[in-house]
Amino acid sequence: MDRRVTIIGGGLAGAEAAFQVATRGGHAVLYEMKPGARSQAHTLDTLAELVCSNSLKSNDVGTASGLLKAEMRCLNSLVLDIAQKTSVPAGGTLAVDREAFSIAVTERLNEVGVEVIREEVTVIPDGNPVVIATGPLTSDAFAASIHEHIGTENLYFFDAVAPIVYAESIDKEKTYMASRYDKGPADYLNCPMNTEQYESFVSELVRAEGVIPRGFEDTPYFEGCMPVEAIAERGPDTLMFGPMRPVGLVDPHTGRRPHAVVQLRRENSEGTLYNMVGFQTRLKFSEQKRLFSMIPGLENVEFARYGKLHRNTYIDSPRLLTKFQRLSSEPRIFFAGQITGVEGYMESSLSGLLAGINALRVASGTAPCLVPPPESMSGALMRYISGEDAGAEGGGKRGFQPMNSNFGLLSSPDIRNKKERRAKQVALALEAIEGWVNETLA
Ligand SMILES: Cc1cc2nc3c(=O)[nH]c(=O)nc-3n(C[C@H](O)[C@H](O)[C@H](O)COP(=O)(O)OP(=O)(O)OC[C@H]3O[C@@H](n4cnc5c(N)ncnc54)[C@H](O)[C@@H]3O)c2cc1C
Repeated sequence: MDRRVTIIGGGLAGAEAAFQVATRGGHAVLYEMKPGARSQAHTLDTLAELVCSNSLKSNDVGTASGLLKAEMRCLNSLVLDIAQKTSVPAGGTLAVDREAFSIAVTERLNEVGVEVIREEVTVIPDGNPVVIATGPLTSDAFAASIHEHIGTENLYFFDAVAPIVYAESIDKEKTYMASRYDKGPADYLNCPMNTEQYESFVSELVRAEGVIPRGFEDTPYFEGCMPVEAIAERGPDTLMFGPMRPVGLVDPHTGRRPHAVVQLRRENSEGTLYNMVGFQTRLKFSEQKRLFSMIPGLENVEFARYGKLHRNTYIDSPRLLTKFQRLSSEPRIFFAGQITGVEGYMESSLSGLLAGINALRVASGTAPCLVPPPESMSGALMRYISGEDAGAEGGGKRGFQPMNSNFGLLSSPDIRNKKERRAKQVALALEAIEGWVNETLA
């Protein structure tokens, strides 16, 4: 049997996928378009380039990103191994020397026998299993080929992400569940504002500090996904006719309609995460924390993911992929990395790692494919991305937006104390991943 896997894109996900294939007895063929062609964010010629920050976030296993790293250590992650070897002092954060990291990954792939072809792929190749890991800045020609396989409506080029917060950090005394005009179940959590609260919120919002977009990200906004601060700039009352519209949302505490309302919608089936509806934003993270804490009920809110608006090519994974990151309609094709809607360096690497393992299983005829258990951060993230946490594999979840690792993805044990509850989640996750690795991958 030809144990050959083609990987397209030599970023973090593609490098991990190729490494897993090559070190598990397969033949990895990795296509990377640099240096002949490159995106506007990539500058190095070597593989696995970190395009922005050199931080891979916290190493503390008590945090979501630290837990993900601990799990990836069990999974023999190349990116994590090299990151540790090329790290620079950064307290509890894992930060790397960007160039040394990229060079070391490139050399390691060479050592384990990955065949690297420096060429832009413009059409998804036929034949053996393929892992598509071309990232948030996938080349235009290749994006057109992806279109042909998945349909134009399932590929996005821009990310307009509203913040997601932990449900447990919302003050339920100040908020209420209702849907507009009581139509349908009371699925929305509403944060009511009086006139004074609304006016001071808007006046702070228009003065808040935003991120400066890079040239290629300075795209005109679509009306449907305008940043909340840009809506506010159009006039003091504009938000009241947009995302903060109070009509049909009588506050049961007062019996009256509030002056304005911020609505939050459940983000996952467990109800541990809530999305701030219509609050996509380009504000700096520190500003989001400061400003959104002015909203009644969100004074002490904890963010699972901050809002963002940037150039990002990604597919509607819940509609298209199984939890093994295989295309339901063409199971020979895997997607990995940021293009699947995972967000962040480590999340993308994890996704590549798992796609590489599974693509090799398909190439070797050793199906079924594998996915880590749901108790682990890795398994929970794969289920979220594929929409399986919403009940149906690849069944589709409307309005899919990218996601990073966070505790809201894990089942929440019935423990009141937050610190103890998180410690329990971590212990369960590590036990689950270690057991899974020993049983299936050892
Ligand atoms: C401007 C910007 C800043 C970011 N900053 C951060 C940050 O600070 N922290 C963070 O965690 N995440 C950040 N991200 C997200 C980041 O891109 C991902 O976390 C991570 O790099 C994704 O890994 P990947 O392997 O999916 O894609 P990439 O690392 O982008 O790798 C994709 C690779 O595919 C290649 N490629 C593309 N098209 C083709 C083709 N047709 N043929 C062959 N090769 C191709 C590219 O050259 C690239 O090497 C940022 C993204 C962008 C766009």
